[in-house]
Amino acid sequence: MECKLCKALKNEKDKYLYEDKDIVFLPTKTMKGHNKRIMIVSKEHIKYPSISDEREWVDSFIKFCKEYFNEEPTFALCESTYATIPNHWHLIATDWKGNVDIEQLHYTPHRAIKTNVNWRPNNG
Ligand SMILES: [Zn+2]
Repeated sequence: MECKLCKALKNEKDKYLYEDKDIVFLPTKTMKGHNKRIMIVSKEHIKYPSISDEREWVDSFIKFCKEYFNEEPTFALCESTYATIPNHWHLIATDWKGNVDIEQLHYTPHRAIKTNVNWRPNNG
């Protein structure tokens, strides 16, 4: 069976949010109750990129997400340890809203990262 991520890379070019020679950012197929849920995927079908590649890729993904999730103060970057597709390197980022899977998110190791917005709560 073809790898789901390789398949997505091939068939969902129109959904790409960003692309360079090594990586692609695109929305995930399942939103799991989130308004925004996107992933970074390596173009090559590899499990582990080099440490320097990975660092560079994650840096650019975080930079992108800070703009992409800018209606909120933070977004969640999930660790790939619990990924359903373990053989193809990727990371998932989601908002905190509409969290149908908020419990799942709590059990998934993740980092909360600040967006670029000067956010204030709506209760005042
Ligand atoms: Zn693959």
